[in-house]
Parts: sequence; structure tokens; C-alpha cells
Amino acid sequence: MKVAVIGCTHAGTAAITNILNMYPEAEIDVFEKNDNVSFLSCGIALYVGGVVKDSDGLFYASVEGFEEQGVRMHMQHVVTECDTSNKTLEAKNLKTNLTKKYSYDKLIITSGSWPVTPPIPGSDLENVQICKNFHHANEIIERAKSAKNIVVVGAGYIGIELVEAFEQAGKHVTLIDSEKRILNRYLDEEFTSPIERTLTEKGVSLALKQTVSSFQGKDGKVTQVITGQSSYEADLVIMCIGFRPNTTLFTGQVEMLKNGAIIVDEYMQTSKKDVFAAGDCCAVAYNPTKKTAYIPLATNAVRMGTLAAYNLLAPRLAHQGTQGTSGLKIHQHNISATGLTETAAAAAGIRVESALLEDTYRPEFMPENAVLRLKVVYEVDSHRIVGAQVISEADFTQAMNTLSVAIQNKMTIEQMAMTDFFFQPHYNKPWNYLNQVCIQAMKQIEEKQGKQQKAVS
Ligand SMILES: Cc1cc2nc3c(=O)[nH]c(=O)nc-3n(C[C@H](O)[C@H](O)[C@H](O)COP(=O)(O)OP(=O)(O)OC[C@H]3O[C@@H](n4cnc5c(N)ncnc54)[C@H](O)[C@@H]3O)c2cc1C
Repeated sequence: MKVAVIGCTHAGTAAITNILNMYPEAEIDVFEKNDNVSFLSCGIALYVGGVVKDSDGLFYASVEGFEEQGVRMHMQHVVTECDTSNKTLEAKNLKTNLTKKYSYDKLIITSGSWPVTPPIPGSDLENVQICKNFHHANEIIERAKSAKNIVVVGAGYIGIELVEAFEQAGKHVTLIDSEKRILNRYLDEEFTSPIERTLTEKGVSLALKQTVSSFQGKDGKVTQVITGQSSYEADLVIMCIGFRPNTTLFTGQVEMLKNGAIIVDEYMQTSKKDVFAAGDCCAVAYNPTKKTAYIPLATNAVRMGTLAAYNLLAPRLAHQGTQGTSGLKIHQHNISATGLTETAAAAAGIRVESALLEDTYRPEFMPENAVLRLKVVYEVDSHRIVGAQVISEADFTQAMNTLSVAIQNKMTIEQMAMTDFFFQPHYNKPWNYLNQVCIQAMKQIEEKQGKQQKAVS
């Protein structure tokens, strides 16, 4: 069996590693346009901030390692054509500019995503930078050295992490986003406000509800970012406004969402026989809405890459969907979230209510304690949990993994309220905070029902 894999970051690496284990007889051809594999882009902000000192730590697989296991690694080869009907592809060697044709029996597309770059006038100025791969990370570090004023456009996870890294390096940082809150897609206001306060206290300029209209420069280098309301000095601009699937090669060959994300079934099979896809190039089944969504995350990529390998010969292990669970640490704030926020639920047309708990996590007699803020979002009609968020100076981020399992298994507020969790004063109270927030939700539901009954009688 000849297997071709296009792209070798998280999804590709997971697929190859598992194919090597499961089908030792397989001939594997890997095409990767970069000169490295398995780059952990999640480490970029820590690398830029100097926390990660040795860049080797940003990789967990190597070209040599795969080659030793018999994989044909076509590095710095970009796939320029793919004929999924005749099972052939063409790849251009970027070092020699020569193009060669290859054939395969099974294809795994793990071509990932690329940052969204709207056609803003001045985008081509020097020092207007995107942030995705190892090459970008090194460029950002180099350019930041001489920069005093750095503007980050996009207040999602990646933008916020870079803002913290630059601010800690003593730069004057401006964060621009067209939404009125940072991290708007991941967290509700009770969770974004404390982070915004901290960033402002640290001297970061928040330019929210503003859209970049142009970049201006001098001698070919960016100097100003212009928005509808104002202008900001900039020696370096990092664009972090989202990602789009890297799938134009396959347009018209496999079914896709409108944004180009490849649609796969639960076995990572595309609409074309013997063509599998995984990771950021794909749409995923999103359990909170029970619909497909585009959620580019490394967690989804490694899972889907692994599943593509499992199901290469026959469907045997199904994807269980995702909650888009994510975590973030900004200064003293430990934050994580899973599923839908209230804002996202409203946008998805799902009727939800929420319960918010703010409490110390240990009994009051404990000499050291911390407050956590925890919200659970649930469907009004079914009481099914569809999302949750937590923030604290102590680390409760794993609680969102527990709630991710709850959402995946369609648990209700009542079921979660009465779920068995241990108690030990070092770690929690007799009612664990996850039980507590759901008990609070139950009380709210009962109060509402009581009021409705009174109104009827
Ligand atoms: C700064 C940053 C921080 C992040 N932090 C987190 C985090 O904390 N947690 C988390 O879960 N996720 C995080 N992510 C997202 C995560 O990195 C992605 O979801 C993940 O990289 C997706 O892996 P992938 O293999 O599907 O695709 P990609 O990483 O996009 O890799 C695709 C690969 O395919 C190659 N390729 C594409 N087209 C071709 C072609 N035609 N020919 C040859 N090769 C091709 C590319 O060169 C690339 O190496 C972060 C992303 C960034 C940019």
C-alpha cells in the first residue's frame, strides 16, 4: 500500500507515526513545503518571550527520525497538483524547481491552515507580519529587537499571548480588535474584563471596537496603523485575525464548507474514496451545536491525524467530535473554556441560561486559598451542558476538561450536580466547585419554574 501524506505538522506527524505502527508494510511518501516537521506553534509566544530558549524544544519529531523508519520525506516539496480520481499528485522541489509526478493508493491531506490576510492597503509594507510557523517566529524575534512600538491586530488567543510577551519585553504594545471585548469568541464578559484590566494596568493600549483600514509607512517600512477611529505608531505589526483552511488544491474534488474546510466523516474519510483529511484543513463535528464547524486547534489535529491512520483500510475507530476546549495563561490569570459561551450560543440560535459561581475553592479554615470564577452554560429546554469557562489565580484549567467530557456525553446540569467528585480540604470543598455551579443552576431553574407556576395560578 502506497500512502501519500501532504503536510507534516501535527495532523501529518500523528498520521505517519500511527501508520508506521499499524501498517509496517506501507510505503509512505510525505510532502512538506517547509524544512521542518511537527512545529509546535503553541510555543511561539513563549519563544518570542524568551521562556523557550532552545528552539529544538519546539519540535517533537524529526525528518531523520522518520527516514530511519523508512518514510520517504520529500522536504521543501510543495504539492502543486493533485488528481484524486487517478490517484496522482505533482510536487515541486523548492530547492531545484523541478516538478515530479507521484502515485498513491491512499491519500491523507493534512495541509493545515494559513493566517487570514485581508487586502488592507499597506499590508505589503516591511514589518507587517503574520504568525504561524517557525520561520515567522524567528522573523518576529529578529524584527522585535529594534521595535519600540508593536501593534497586534486580533485579540484571540494568539494575539493576547504575543501582547503579553512583547509587554514583558518592555515594548509599548497596542492591541486592536474590531470586537468590543478581547477573546470574544472564547469567553464571556465576566472572564474577559479581569484580563483586560490586567493588560491595561501593565500598560497595554487596548484599541477595541476598531477596525484597521490601512497601514502607513516610510521607506517601505510600517510606521502607523490606521483604524476608523484613530492611528497608532508601529515599528512592527503582527496580524492575528484568524486562519483559513489551506485546501485550494482540492477545490471541486472533495466536499468542503464555504470557507474551504474539507468535510470528513467520523472516520476522517472525505467525499472521495481513499482520500482522508485531518487537522486544520478540515471541518470538525462540534458537539455543543451538533453541527460542523471550523475549529483549528492542535488537539483536533493530532486526534484526527491518528484517526486517519486507524481508519485507512476500513472504518474502525470513530471521531467523537470536539468541544473546542482551550486554555490560556495571561499574567496571574489561569483561564480555560469549553464549548459555547453565552454570546456564541446566541449567535448559533441556541437558547441558553448560565450559572456563575464565585467562591474560594478550599474550606475557609485553610490558611491558603484562592477564588475561582466558574460559569456553566446550559440549554434552556433540555438542561444539557453546552459550555463552560473558568478563571482564577490558582490553576483550575483542568476543570474544563471534565466539562468537555460532560458536553461530549450530553450530560445535563442535574447529572453533573450529582456526579461523584472526591473531597479533601487541600483541593476542594465537600461539594466540588463543578457540583456547586450546577446546583446553583438547578436552583435558578427551580426558581424560574416556581415563578412561572405562580404566574399561571
Ligand atoms: C501562534 C499559534 C499558537 C497556537 N496555540 C495553540 C494552542 O495553544 N493549542 C492548540 O490546540 N492549538 C494551537 N494553535 C493551533 C495549532 O497550531 C494548529 O491547529 C495546528 O498547527 C494544526 O496542525 P495541522 O497539522 O492540521 O496543520 P498546520 O500546522 O497548518 O500544518 C500544515 C502543514 O502542511 C504543509 N503544507 C500545506 N500545503 C502544502 C502543500 N501544498 N505541499 C506541501 N506541504 C504543504 C505546511 O507547510 C504545514 O507544515 C496555535 C497556532 C498558532 C499559529
